[in-house]
Amino acid sequence: MTDFADDYEDDRFASAGLRLTVDLAALTENWKDMARRSGKARAAAVVKADAYGTGIEDAGEALYLAGARDFFVATVDEGVTLRLYAPEARIFVLAGIWPGTERRFFENDLVPVISSEEQLAFWMAVLADYGDYPCALHVDTGFNRLGLAMEDAIALADDVSRPASFSPVLVMSHLACGDDHASPMNKQQLESFRRVSDAYEGIDSSLAASAGIFLGSDYHFDMTRPGISLYGGEAVNGMANPMRAVVTAEARVIQVRTVKSGESVSYGRAMKLTRDSRLAIVSAGYADGYMRSQSSGGVPLRQVVPQGGHGFVAGRKVPVAGRITMDLTIFDITDLPEGAVSAGDYVELFGKNIAVDDAARAAGTIGYEMLTSMGLRHERQYVAEED
Ligand SMILES: *Cc1c(COP(=O)(O)O)cnc(C)c1O
Repeated sequence: MTDFADDYEDDRFASAGLRLTVDLAALTENWKDMARRSGKARAAAVVKADAYGTGIEDAGEALYLAGARDFFVATVDEGVTLRLYAPEARIFVLAGIWPGTERRFFENDLVPVISSEEQLAFWMAVLADYGDYPCALHVDTGFNRLGLAMEDAIALADDVSRPASFSPVLVMSHLACGDDHASPMNKQQLESFRRVSDAYEGIDSSLAASAGIFLGSDYHFDMTRPGISLYGGEAVNGMANPMRAVVTAEARVIQVRTVKSGESVSYGRAMKLTRDSRLAIVSAGYADGYMRSQSSGGVPLRQVVPQGGHGFVAGRKVPVAGRITMDLTIFDITDLPEGAVSAGDYVELFGKNIAVDDAARAAGTIGYEMLTSMGLRHERQYVAEED
């Protein structure tokens, strides 16, 4: 790239209405942290949904350079993209293989995760045509989402009639309640998965996503599959989040306005001002993934945090005022000194000062959804902050 192109990219970031900063050093540290917490097990990296909104190219490459050699993506397209940035890695495709995608799997050396009888039958037919090729088996131990039935999976392990070219390299399952360490479901799924793992002796097994890693070494098996923790989100309810923040989302102030006590703000006059106020109008709305349910009031269905979300600007938290609209959000900056916020400044929507999970809670959702929703109109920049 020429210097001119670099400048052009920088200008786009500096002038963006909504921008995301992804701290690749924090991402890398978080992966190393989860690898340490995984003990003897190897830590993979889950990079589905464009690496939880952080960008699969840069995030994937940073994780690869940090030492990750096993990756999980949701779709074959994500796998094809990731292959360019993780040349020697094993890439597992969680959605499995579908007729018409075989070539992309083979040409990019992607490993399908087989999770139903139909996929298994198709896979056996593919092997008959193409020969030996690795796969992973996803077994359901109580989640009732994807996965082969346990008894079928165990029978398959001992099935002498299965083709010799059928060579699973990983058997895996997923916890339904890993985020709730008090749930008896964790132990039940652990015991079920042990039976599966025993049946596939000599083949790697994997049960724990981020939350499961925190459940302790019984849950680690041969490989762990952290996702949300890598991106700084909370994995376990009610536990202080030990991960570093990775993503900072900021929106530009387009206008600062002064409004008299008694006047109202935004659609439906949902917020009535009880004092003379200053408001900052910023260029992010629900079409950008800044959810309407984070409005300060007037949006039904949200009871968790009745007062709505907050932004962070000029060293302080400031509340959302009235309803969030499609492209714009209003923040009440009355408590900041006059002149502290001007048009052109940025308000942090979440990041180093507002935890992504706090923003998500205010919206009645979870950090996962907040991160993956912020994907449409922003400019993204990568940094590697040392601290
Ligand atoms: C998304 C996903 C993960 C990662 O989960 P986190 O909670 O984000 O750590 C691991 N395994 C499977 C099967 C998944 O779908």
